Amino acid sequence: TMFVNKHSRTFIFKRLPRNYRQFTSSSTEDYDLVVIGGGSGGLACAKAASQLQKKVAVLDFVTPSTQGTTWGLGGTCVNVGCIPKKLMHHASLLGDAIRDSKAYGWNVPDEVQSDWTTLSTAVQNHVKSLNWGHRVQLRDKNVEYINGLGSFKDPHTVRVKESNGTERLLKTRNAVIAVGVRPYVPSQIPGAVEYGATSDDLFWLKKTPGKTLLIGASYIALECGGFLNGLGFDTSIMVRSRPLKQFDQQMAELVAESMESKGTRFLRKCVPVSIEKDSRGRLVVKYEDLTNRQTKEEVFDTVMFATGRHAVTNNLNLEALGIEVDQTTQKVFGGHSDDHERTSVANIYAIGDILHNRPELTPVAIKAGQLLADRLFGGSQVQMDYNMIPTTVFTPLEYGVVGISEEKAVSCHGEENIEVYHAFYTPLEFAVPRRDASHCYIKAICFGDRILGLHLIGPNAGEVIQGFAVALRCGATWSGLSGSVGIHPTTAEEVVKLHITKRSGADPTVTGC
Ligand code: FAD
Ligand code: NDP
Repeated sequence: TMFVNKHSRTFIFKRLPRNYRQFTSSSTEDYDLVVIGGGSGGLACAKAASQLQKKVAVLDFVTPSTQGTTWGLGGTCVNVGCIPKKLMHHASLLGDAIRDSKAYGWNVPDEVQSDWTTLSTAVQNHVKSLNWGHRVQLRDKNVEYINGLGSFKDPHTVRVKESNGTERLLKTRNAVIAVGVRPYVPSQIPGAVEYGATSDDLFWLKKTPGKTLLIGASYIALECGGFLNGLGFDTSIMVRSRPLKQFDQQMAELVAESMESKGTRFLRKCVPVSIEKDSRGRLVVKYEDLTNRQTKEEVFDTVMFATGRHAVTNNLNLEALGIEVDQTTQKVFGGHSDDHERTSVANIYAIGDILHNRPELTPVAIKAGQLLADRLFGGSQVQMDYNMIPTTVFTPLEYGVVGISEEKAVSCHGEENIEVYHAFYTPLEFAVPRRDASHCYIKAICFGDRILGLHLIGPNAGEVIQGFAVALRCGATWSGLSGSVGIHPTTAEEVVKLHITKRSGADPTVTGC
């Protein structure tokens, strides 16, 4: 439990964890809060603190990607993550809609083509407008924005190397580490760093991606592979073990199958060996098929690594301050003195992707940042709740989920205690153009009357799951769900209509109204 002595601003703890460091602030501090990192979490925290009349600075600096790409204020989500990704996902869905529209009576040509330059320029222009919007918001909310690389000199002094070359020292009472994570490229693979793009480059590519290989099989590879295929590019995904390994495996396989049925090629159980450039400037990829140990070779225009994201904390001088980081991920440990985001140094906090063992999602970073500002300066004691966080994989058929997988439920509670209600359904809009709906599937995982997980594959899964996620956080029950009345005709109503259990072995295909 923490008490704050408002006069001396010294933090006093009833129970101090091992390695926990207290520093008493001096009276020369200029800032109440300095935030290192102007992404989703950092900006949210800085703005919330400033609204509470505190003196706040936020530092943001983008180190260029391995291919030299760089961008403006707002962090990963705005520039090289959620926003450009969702716009390109939408562009790809529009292609499907145009093709469907013929069946609905629209007079469109048989073949439609997307133009990468038009799309990427439009996406980049939107991103630049968001960069500008963030700058304006910081100014309006009296947050000082410094375009510079931050590191710690000591727990109350942040050193900034500004982009114009000057160095400044900022004295502060509190600091927040919100520096996010960056794509990891396996540098031991010859040519990977030299020729491999990442999601930090894809949305800013000057030339069309052409025939593309994505290495990795999680969120980023499947989302980017999905929209590139939808935009008409020859797309392959190289899978080392299984697609979407950290998700419910029945759902993950359905997502992968639906992508395969639309033309994305999956190179399963394969790993890259080397990348070289040929005389025509194309990329020659050697890879190993792990099932038969054969080495194969294929030529691509773009090779993108989506092999995970790593923390770049080594330039922050955390070690000298005694801030504990995980040895494998280099992410910062929170959870000191019962505060989820407090590090092993009393006045320094970490939020967002950089916090060890927490989901790497924008709304998580934002909520944690806002709650932290309220606790630091608004007298709040509310901690971030990292349970029941919904997410959606924006593949062509989206996969939305809240709660746990069937595997996890079975391992925690035993198969005999878990009831799974499920349905294969056809979204109404698929019927007229006779679109393949064989992968549209829902399952609810229940333990007694309690719903532990809800999974949905289908159009607009993110929109559908957001609503149900609120219900699950409020402790939704199976009787409450099945007693609810649907909204007809929607795909969301198929959730409240679930009634067939897996255990029954009955056909879960929904028919008619
Ligand atoms: P970031 O947004 O990464 O911000 C950190 C900032 O700090 C960056 O601007 C960085 O340049 C800067 N910085 C780093 N070091 C320093 C330093 N020393 N000094 C000054 N500045 C520094 N999440 C979702 O919820 N939904 C999605 O659909 C989604 N799609 C994604 C798609 C892709 C391709 C990727 C890569 C991510 C996606 N994410 C998505 C994840 C989401 O983008 C992140 O979880 C979120 O941006 C994390 O916010 P953050 O504040 O922790 O870090
Ligand atoms: P993940 O860490 O989730 O997955 C990494 C993938 O790369 C795995 O498939 C892994 O294979 C593979 N891999 C790792 N190393 C190698 C290697 N040397 N050779 C071949 N394959 C390799 O990373 P992502 O980059 O996809 O996503 C990072 C995070 O970003 C996500 O966890 C998510 O929180 C966030 N995000 C959120 C999105 C959303 O909300 N829609 C969208 C995109 C990202 P294996 O399984 O065999 O280990």
